[in-house]
Amino acid sequence: MYSRFVEFDRVVKFIQETYNTKDFLPLHEPRFIGNEKKYVNEAIDSTFVSSVGKYVIEFEEMMAKFVGSKYAVATSNGTSALHIGLKLVGVDENSEVITQPLTFIATANAIAYCNAKPIFVDVDRDTLGLSAQKLEAFLEASTFLNEDNECVNKTTNKIIKACVPMHTFGHACKIEEIVEICNRYNIIVVEDAAESLGSYYKGQHTGTFGKVGIFSFNGNKIITTGGGGMIVTDDETLAKRAKHISTTAKVPDPYEYIHDEVGYNYRLTNLAAAMGVGQMESLEFFIGKQRELAFKYKEFFKELELKFIEEPKDSSSNYWLNAVILKDRETRDEFLKYTNNKGVMTRSIWRLMNKLEMFKEAQCGDLSNAQWLEDRVVNISSSVVL
Ligand SMILES: *Cc1c(COP(=O)(O)O)cnc(C)c1O
Repeated sequence: MYSRFVEFDRVVKFIQETYNTKDFLPLHEPRFIGNEKKYVNEAIDSTFVSSVGKYVIEFEEMMAKFVGSKYAVATSNGTSALHIGLKLVGVDENSEVITQPLTFIATANAIAYCNAKPIFVDVDRDTLGLSAQKLEAFLEASTFLNEDNECVNKTTNKIIKACVPMHTFGHACKIEEIVEICNRYNIIVVEDAAESLGSYYKGQHTGTFGKVGIFSFNGNKIITTGGGGMIVTDDETLAKRAKHISTTAKVPDPYEYIHDEVGYNYRLTNLAAAMGVGQMESLEFFIGKQRELAFKYKEFFKELELKFIEEPKDSSSNYWLNAVILKDRETRDEFLKYTNNKGVMTRSIWRLMNKLEMFKEAQCGDLSNAQWLEDRVVNISSSVVL
């Protein structure tokens, strides 16, 4: 008991030394060290502050180039990007969508926005992301391919249309294997890469393995536009459709307002994109700094009982959010209390989606790894150290 608090105190002191402060330390603050203000001012001066303007186009082009996708479509946030992404691949009220129970709520919410049903399949303990092994086991035991080659859920008789793996805290899941399994079952992969801008699996950028990938630029992500998101794809038709339905499905016409379906007002503003272009210019620097910080943590935690979560095999992580594994739930809670009381903000990983009121009826596989991680994982200070 006593030694546990000695360890916790060492962690607090290490973090305070690393950030060179005894003031309150948030989990992840944004950093603006480049041209953000200049570009935002330019956007204001141009009067193009809304969803049309040169910065939106520039931001989309920079993102496509950075991740290595053919197309990128900017949206108002990561959740709306995921909603559109699911709609693009045909997820509707008759569909079921496989995802992981250990994720930020947006993943499950976007499925619900399509009136589709989520199915929760377990994660791996090392990647924290959807487990390829458990996915394959679930599909083999619980589904069959019908005469149209669609994947039918034996329990509900509904079509499993899509799968949404997520790269937790910037650590890549076994995405190549997951895509290969989904291809065999005719399930379309929509990658929730909201947390993994700058993370790679076998040298390829996360978010570019599936048919569609999405990113988030919320205030706490590795780069931010205040609020924003991006859809990436190599499919021209899907990219065009993404832009169309996220722009109220407006049909070009010189005089009239014509819309050809129920669309969404999900476009990113030029003002936000201006900030995004400034942030993109710092992205490589941020990733380098995050990896440096993670390396420091890794060395430090070697001597402690707390285990630092390192990037999984075959991947390179942006280390967006650093995390440690505590001995058990009780120790986790003590650690949370101790560190937050000292002004060093820490947070537990998410409560599993299937335990939340609105998703408690959802079909679940064996979720033992997700539960194990829920009981033990805590995020620690992860702002870029300047
Ligand atoms: C941040 C995040 C999103 C999108 O969030 P927004 O706040 O809508 O940009 C989606 N999925 C995951 C896993 C996230 O962490």
